[in-house]
Amino acid sequence: MKKFSNLLIGTNNKGKLKEIRALLPKHIKIYSTSNFNLKSPVENGKTFEENSVIKSIYFSKKTNLPCLADDSGLEIDILNKSPGIHSSRWGGKNLNFKRAIKRVYKELNKKDKDWKNKKIKARFICALSISYLEKKIVCVRGKVEGSISFEPKGKNGFGYDPIFIPTGKKFTFGEISPNLKYKIDHRFRAFKKIKKFL
Ligand code: IMP
Repeated sequence: MKKFSNLLIGTNNKGKLKEIRALLPKHIKIYSTSNFNLKSPVENGKTFEENSVIKSIYFSKKTNLPCLADDSGLEIDILNKSPGIHSSRWGGKNLNFKRAIKRVYKELNKKDKDWKNKKIKARFICALSISYLEKKIVCVRGKVEGSISFEPKGKNGFGYDPIFIPTGKKFTFGEISPNLKYKIDHRFRAFKKIKKFL
């Protein structure tokens, strides 16, 4: 059964929009927040799931369309899982990812001067939710485990991609082709779980 003929992708982040768009089935007519000139809501949830649902409900109510929204971020174990739900905030108002990456290295140096000689465990998390008006329909979580590179590498992707090495690979998400990243990342894994609701 085809459940949605229209769907809004509730994000103002162009990197995420591109990834999510590529995953959606072709029969769904997709809208983005830029079709409606919408600002993002205040994300005051305590978890990725809460923030994802805040976004999907907010954008759905603004547009009367069912909305798929994601909340995602990078958890670094020795930084007590920071930046976590504050991942985009570390980039400042203009989502300056270079600045966010600088902050990661600054915090790692503060925490452990010798961090480059260790494996710094990290993971990307993605909570994807679908809501229609006030009602949450579903919310799922996907993750990809990995470690932090000693220096940023590669120009692909967005956000923290240049410093994240997925487990079992020798390159960062910034170095691999977008088509490969889409097939192994946290968003794809969450998407696999939410697919049956589309
Ligand atoms: P939010 O979910 O829009 O609050 O922000 C999530 C933030 O986490 C993004 O702005 C990125 O900095 C980071 N992030 C989420 N997913 C990815 C990814 O696939 N690659 C790199 N960075 C990501």
